Amino acid sequence: MQLVKNTPVIKDLVLIGGGHSHVAVLKKFGMNPVPGLQITLITRDVHTPYSGMLPGYIAGHYTYDESHIDLRPLARFAGARLIHASATFLELENKQVICGDRPQINYDVLSINTGSTPSHIEVPGSKQHALAVKPINQFLQGWDALMQSVLEHDGDFKVAVVGAGAGGVEVALATQFHLQQLLSEHSITTEKLRFDLIAGNGSVLPTHNASVRRRFKRVLPERKIMVHKGSKAKRVNANTIEMENGESIRADAIIWATHASAPAWYKESGLAVDERGFIEIDDSLQSVSHKYVFAAGDIATVTNYPRPKSGVFAVRQGPPLYKNIRRALTNKTLKKHVPQISFLSLISTGDKCAIGSRGFFTFEGAWIWKLKDYIDREFMRKYNELPEMGDDSDPIQSELANSDTLKEISAIAMRCGGCGAKVGSNVLSRVVNQLNTVKRDDVILGLDAPDDAAVLEVPPGKVQVQSVDYFRSFIDDPYVFGQIAANHSLGDVFAMGAEAQAAMAVATVPYGKEKVVEQQLHQMMDGALKVLNQHNAALIGGHSSEGTELSFGLSVTGLIEKQKLLAKGGMQVGDAIIITKPVGTGTLFAADMRGKSKGRWITSAIESMIQSNHAAAQCLYKYEVHGCTDVTGFGVLGHLVEMVRAGQVDISIDLNKLPILEGALETMQLGIFSSLQPSNIRLRRAIKNQDIAVKHELYPLLFDPQTAGGLLATIPNQHKDACVVELHQLGYPHTCVIGEVEQLSDAVESIMINT
Ligand SMILES: Cc1cc2nc3c(=O)[nH]c(=O)nc-3n(C[C@H](O)[C@H](O)[C@H](O)COP(=O)(O)OP(=O)(O)OC[C@H]3O[C@@H](n4cnc5c(N)ncnc54)[C@H](O)[C@@H]3O)c2cc1C
Repeated sequence: MQLVKNTPVIKDLVLIGGGHSHVAVLKKFGMNPVPGLQITLITRDVHTPYSGMLPGYIAGHYTYDESHIDLRPLARFAGARLIHASATFLELENKQVICGDRPQINYDVLSINTGSTPSHIEVPGSKQHALAVKPINQFLQGWDALMQSVLEHDGDFKVAVVGAGAGGVEVALATQFHLQQLLSEHSITTEKLRFDLIAGNGSVLPTHNASVRRRFKRVLPERKIMVHKGSKAKRVNANTIEMENGESIRADAIIWATHASAPAWYKESGLAVDERGFIEIDDSLQSVSHKYVFAAGDIATVTNYPRPKSGVFAVRQGPPLYKNIRRALTNKTLKKHVPQISFLSLISTGDKCAIGSRGFFTFEGAWIWKLKDYIDREFMRKYNELPEMGDDSDPIQSELANSDTLKEISAIAMRCGGCGAKVGSNVLSRVVNQLNTVKRDDVILGLDAPDDAAVLEVPPGKVQVQSVDYFRSFIDDPYVFGQIAANHSLGDVFAMGAEAQAAMAVATVPYGKEKVVEQQLHQMMDGALKVLNQHNAALIGGHSSEGTELSFGLSVTGLIEKQKLLAKGGMQVGDAIIITKPVGTGTLFAADMRGKSKGRWITSAIESMIQSNHAAAQCLYKYEVHGCTDVTGFGVLGHLVEMVRAGQVDISIDLNKLPILEGALETMQLGIFSSLQPSNIRLRRAIKNQDIAVKHELYPLLFDPQTAGGLLATIPNQHKDACVVELHQLGYPHTCVIGEVEQLSDAVESIMINT
């Protein structure tokens, strides 16, 4: 199921953070779309950890995918745009979210579910020398290093966990379990491990009942975890924790799991917060200071019903949050939500056992772990196994049938009348006025002095190189799409060996309210401009219109001395063939459309697509490049065919060497291909040994169309190793030699695929 498509956007719901409450909100909007509503999820992490399984993941009982919710398919299911960025400020007066240096994101209704991080503020050195359990991705990076040091360390290895709430206790036990397994696997004694748990002034598990505490008072000594009570950490150094009572605790690794804290920027933005900086909300989960701003989970404090910071409450707030957001969008009275007092608490002890409690009752054993495991897996199934996407029909909701929303949609539909109407001049000039393009002496007339056409000068001794590209957006973040489109377009200029000079943009923005159209256009243009400015290319004009789909293209102009022009056909017999980026964007994004790509696959594909080919082209020059092209719509094979035909040579390719993007093989094996794949496959006739090549698992990837792909170049064989090393150093880690150029053996140029 999807959000109602092809209806003009008239309202913006922005969700910051993909926490435990927002995943429910997304799923429910996916099941019950609202016409005319654009949902935007801004998230720092594309895979969000499920708190209940985090200790099990650290202990090694769950894989990353089992314990994380992939927000990308979930957002797609909800019809929401996913913006992979951290929110850093709120302009509450203007109803805008600021995310670093990218253009602001407008909202009509905002909801915040960004969780908390362990508090560092009062303990100097903790940020530098301790590994915080959250954000989890940072913890995981440190976790690999920690495991390595345990293996390499001579003598006792001391781990200190600071914080003895449920999180700290579970992390200590899970870490110990995993490290013991690791040492056993390497035939190293587990006796070298020492654990300290620092509880500060309070006791272990202060928010749990006496019976739970008693059970852990037994378990921790049994596991030889020494508990330090009665004093707090005062300072953290590289290998010691200085305590307030003067004691000093040596530690080879320090894990930080203290009480939850909130970032300062909510307060700085002007939202009402409690004394610890958490957003104060009323019984309807709405900010007490700002209407249409909702908050849930750890980041929020319900003024009338304060509760401990725990995932249980964040999960429970999901459904009422969804209902109230929906009511706010349709101007209905909000409903109250009273968080429960008593709840089932299950704390794992690292070894597939757990201690549970509800009210005054406690229970313990392997069966509790099994129960917890069952509950947690059922929760995850709801979000990681989504119903199949349906067709794109427009199920107009009855609640909205007579609403103002629907009237506005009709009014916009009348305005656009189905034609590609021009974007209004006011919108356009407001967007253009916000763009800061580079100034160049060879731009005689550009955006700053607009005329009927732009005028460029060709400096003496140079020739102009021109290319144009235009595509429908395959990604829902217009800012990133603008960057990719600009990078893709400039790729042609760089493949010719030229420097960028100027660009003209053509943009189509979906119908919508004026401010929505303006924002989409601004985001996309700003993304493109970021890339153009990096390459000193001036934006000199363009054309924009409204249409059914977000589309963007650029006509780019470059400059080069004529004798330096690089052509496809310059390849020489004996040359090594180099490719600078991995392939697979076609299949990955086709799978993403169907909710079948993993979020991290798309994240790394995007990183690859926004990486410029400029530095690579310069490096290839240094190594006397002979022939060069950029890999785009025709795929690797199509571009190789162009090269051999132009050069009148044969080539041989080692298919095992073809670098591929993470996940591309998996999506291809699911039978998911780009719609351009069939026409690219027609070029297989150029392959000499097709009957053998076709059996190789990477064969279909030769035809996968690329967006903003890398360079395919040939250089003298003697330079290949040095060139590859330098390209790796320049940040193209997948660069490799995939073949060599050979003498033409027949009348027709051909490609031999070695498998
Ligand atoms: C080791 C450990 C074990 C725990 N075990 C349990 C347990 O078993 N049961 C339990 O109930 N609780 C447990 N907790 C507590 C639990 O993790 C939190 O209460 C819970 O995660 C809070 O959920 P949330 O939805 O508020 O936020 P989170 O789950 O933290 O999600 C916040 C989301 O917001 C995103 N985000 C953060 N900042 C920004 C930003 N500026 N811009 C955009 N996105 C942002 C993050 O990427 C993340 O996806 C545990 C905590 C720890 C540390």
